[in-house]
Amino acid sequence: MLKIENLHAEVSSDSGAKKILKGVTLEVGAGEIHAIMGPNGAGKSTLAYVLGGRPGYEVTEGSVTFMGEDLLAMDPHERAAAGFFLGFQYPVEIPGVSNVQFLREALNSQRKARGEEPLSGGDFLKLAKEKAALLKLDMEMLKRNVNVGFSGGEKKRNEMVQMGILDPKLAVLDETDSGLDIDALRTVGDGINAIMRKPEKGVLLITHYQRLLDYVQPDFVHVLVAGRVVKTGGADLALQLEEEGYEAVAA
Ligand code: ADP
Ligand code: MG
Ligand code: MG
Repeated sequence: MLKIENLHAEVSSDSGAKKILKGVTLEVGAGEIHAIMGPNGAGKSTLAYVLGGRPGYEVTEGSVTFMGEDLLAMDPHERAAAGFFLGFQYPVEIPGVSNVQFLREALNSQRKARGEEPLSGGDFLKLAKEKAALLKLDMEMLKRNVNVGFSGGEKKRNEMVQMGILDPKLAVLDETDSGLDIDALRTVGDGINAIMRKPEKGVLLITHYQRLLDYVQPDFVHVLVAGRVVKTGGADLALQLEEEGYEAVAA
């Protein structure tokens, strides 16, 4: 489903280009949930941005294929239309645009790119209600401007509603657990399972802490340190990291 090979990437900054990813190799098969853990500054968000096609991040070596296609050759809209979803560590606020408007526009532009008919207003609202209920997000929140004045937890749940509506094949979720209290963590974890734990789907779950993995059990855990995957294991590796720390495990 997703095949990352020897990926090298740098980010352009005021002081010139900075090498961040230094040869990441990783494969996510259909039906698999992979967690990427690693210390702050390891390059986790950079990996997510590169996969999402964010400007300012340049791939200097390696390849990424998604469903057999060259992901890096697609623009961000094409990636989304192909079924790629990126959840952000810091979801953006969009003043002046209501959540419902935004979500319907996003869904219908993806459907259009796939040659599918747009969803009618009624059908869309039904779908939105169903996903909002799944994430325990009040429908009122969907009428408000995108993320404006939302709490950290509301932004994350809103993002999972978005994921549920877009129904992607592959989700890359960057620290979806950050800023969540225990109840919201469970709701978001349940939401990820309900939306993404399917034989034809894949998830790359980027997280600092083990706690989200109590709810969303990964099939594989990768440890990213200084731009490289230094260790791969099963769900137990996350527990070991929590107990012993990155330094001991990555040594
Ligand atoms: P993580 O998500 O694992 O905490 P990041 O991918 O955010 O790590 O960052 C990896 C490294 O790249 C850090 O040293 C960070 O400071 C640096 N970095 C990321 N984005 C930029 C940027 N736009 N300009 C300069 N440095 C950056
Ligand atoms: Mg960080
Ligand atoms: Mg990060």
